[in-house]
Amino acid sequence: MIPLFDLHRQRDRLWPCIDERLNAVLRHGRFVLGPEVEALEARLADYTGSRHVVTVSSGRDALYIALRADGVGPGDAVFVPAFTFSSTAEVVVACGATPVFVDIDARTFNIDIANLMAAVESTRRRAELTPKAIIAVDLFGLPADYQRLGEVASANGLLLIADAAQSFGGRLGERKVGTLAPVTAVSFYPTKPLGAYGDGGALFTDDAARAELYRQIRINGRGLSGLQESDAGLTGRLDTMQAAILLCKLEVFDDELRRRRSVAARYDDALAGLVAVPVAPDGAQSAHALYTVRCEARDSVAGRLAAAEVGCNVYYPAPLHLHPAFRRFGDGVGSLPVAEAASRHVLSLPMHPYLRDEEVDAVCRAVRTAVA
Ligand SMILES: *Cc1c(COP(=O)(O)O)cnc(C)c1O
Repeated sequence: MIPLFDLHRQRDRLWPCIDERLNAVLRHGRFVLGPEVEALEARLADYTGSRHVVTVSSGRDALYIALRADGVGPGDAVFVPAFTFSSTAEVVVACGATPVFVDIDARTFNIDIANLMAAVESTRRRAELTPKAIIAVDLFGLPADYQRLGEVASANGLLLIADAAQSFGGRLGERKVGTLAPVTAVSFYPTKPLGAYGDGGALFTDDAARAELYRQIRINGRGLSGLQESDAGLTGRLDTMQAAILLCKLEVFDDELRRRRSVAARYDDALAGLVAVPVAPDGAQSAHALYTVRCEARDSVAGRLAAAEVGCNVYYPAPLHLHPAFRRFGDGVGSLPVAEAASRHVLSLPMHPYLRDEEVDAVCRAVRTAVA
């Protein structure tokens, strides 16, 4: 069996560091907002070049906090790509705002700029909702087009949030994820590129006032005075234990990214022509959270790979506007055709930095047989 993800090999490599750091936490006993949390935030700021980093309880909570801190609420429209993990839109609904689903680019799977501009324009014209924010998603690890997204956001007075849950470690030119948008939300879910041993996330921003609000919201909305400052609040901190683990994982993160890139390149070489392989625009570097191909006969290929003991999965089997909880915000089947087609054709293959070349080759042989 070649699993889709495998955390065991990484654990074996990092065990001495993790053992030492977890024991240090057990000894000092500051399990909430302990010194490892502060150390991790400093390391993440340093790594990305972002001025402020606020670690939080999950990627979902990072997005939620970002929206609440900017006062997004009832009557506001937040533009989200229709093809992503459901949290991207769920947080909008949780704030009382309305998600407006936007179709994606057929090649990158990321939000399509022309469709975004049309959605902002038609929301304005209808005048029922106030356009407030864009949440762009870096799907499968590939950063969205933040240059043009920034232009659309400024031209329309919208907050631009990067949902970088899958793309920590990615870049556009020399600029790293964490600095590509005014606000970036990252997830440390175990199978994300930088994963903890449980839930976790972080917010990245250069804006000191926003960072302060994020810190308030993650401690129930309380300020430094100890008084309730904000009516938004979560028990939204990253555990000290998880910060300790992430400090160990950051040590090898660049090495892991290089290995993810070489796994992806090996797949590209062997699979191009058999299935549609991922593409990245010039200058964009994916974090390769997932290696996702497209093929017409996706369901039969997936079934054959599973029978050949190759782990694979469909991210995502339905676009957001067709999820039961979100149908009321969309225009139904046929309204966002690129996202709908993607959900029928995508298939993610095993991807992690500890895949061996022989395993990648075995996956490629299984794909060759499965599409024949
Ligand atoms: C994983 C993910 C999230 C949510 O992150 P959690 O840490 O699991 O809450 C949000 N958006 C996208 C695109 C994701 O992949």
